[in-house]
Amino acid sequence: MKSIRTKLKLNNKQKTLLAQHAGYSRWCYNWGLSLWNAAYIDGYKPNPRKLREVFTNHTKPLYPWMKNLSSRVYQYAFLNLGEAFKRFFKGLGKYPKFKKKGRSDSFTIDNCGKPIELNGWSHKLPFIGIVKTYEPIEVTTKKITISRQAGDWYLSCSYEFHPTTTPKKTDVVGVDLGVKTLATLSDGKVFESVRSYRQFEAKLSRLQYLNRHKEIGSANWRAAQRKIARLHRKVANIRQDALHKLTTYLAKNHGRVVIEDLNVRGMLAGQKLAKAIADQGFYEIRRQLKYKCQWYGSELVVVDRFFPSSKTCSNCGHVQDMPLHLRTYDCPDCGVSIDRDLNASINLRNAVGSVVNACG
Ligand SMILES: [Zn+2]
Repeated sequence: MKSIRTKLKLNNKQKTLLAQHAGYSRWCYNWGLSLWNAAYIDGYKPNPRKLREVFTNHTKPLYPWMKNLSSRVYQYAFLNLGEAFKRFFKGLGKYPKFKKKGRSDSFTIDNCGKPIELNGWSHKLPFIGIVKTYEPIEVTTKKITISRQAGDWYLSCSYEFHPTTTPKKTDVVGVDLGVKTLATLSDGKVFESVRSYRQFEAKLSRLQYLNRHKEIGSANWRAAQRKIARLHRKVANIRQDALHKLTTYLAKNHGRVVIEDLNVRGMLAGQKLAKAIADQGFYEIRRQLKYKCQWYGSELVVVDRFFPSSKTCSNCGHVQDMPLHLRTYDCPDCGVSIDRDLNASINLRNAVGSVVNACG
């Protein structure tokens, strides 16, 4: 099973409809929880099915507004409550709490057993109608959850995924993950750096500075916090998108992907580089490559971090010191002059079969 979470593009009418459903879901969850508590005190053993029976026969008829909203919502609200209790009894979670408005607003719906097909940029959801997404998606699922975060609405669902081995253009590719550029491949292809964070950083610190005197918890403060959270999310989305594009390209088109096991902790000690490296998300790239190589039938090879990929001449094997400011590898032995990152990536490609610690 794979899962997807994507932002929805909505008009005000739709936002209201979603907020009503989230409110309905919260109402039912809280109603179910108070009934559960009361029943437990009286010596009964509640479960989601019993809650649903009481609700549909005795409670729902008293609230006409519920008729205008999807009846799938309360079914899932009770199921979620049941799951929360299950986790609690297993010692995996806290005792279920009442949900508060505005905090993790969400609801789940399905298509009464029929699959929901999400295809392209606009999607027909049961009861909710047509909604648009900011990215094209292609998923068939049984149920979807819609949730609000920092004022925006998101759709998430899980679906079955069948890995398929894709035809490979290249047998082995070496990938130098860098600071100046996100990735340099041994065939010369370059993925540019994700500058998103730096780009928004000034804006972010300005926002934080302007709001430093706002009273915590006030309406103004909340509005500002929402703005800040939205900016954070924007940065994260841009970055995540770039990393996914890179890792999908690598895993789909190459039989073996060779990267270096960077000693990120050691490098983070050098303060100047710290931010740039954290920005690039080495760990995230490695994490994504790990599962995508499995999906697309390629192999991820992580080369020992003591392998001198930057210091070695990829043409003749000569080794020399390469301080970080040197962007070109000039070899005094064979006379080759080559981009620093490209040189490193070719060394990584050639390293397969010699000094490697292969791992998944
Ligand atoms: Zn050389």
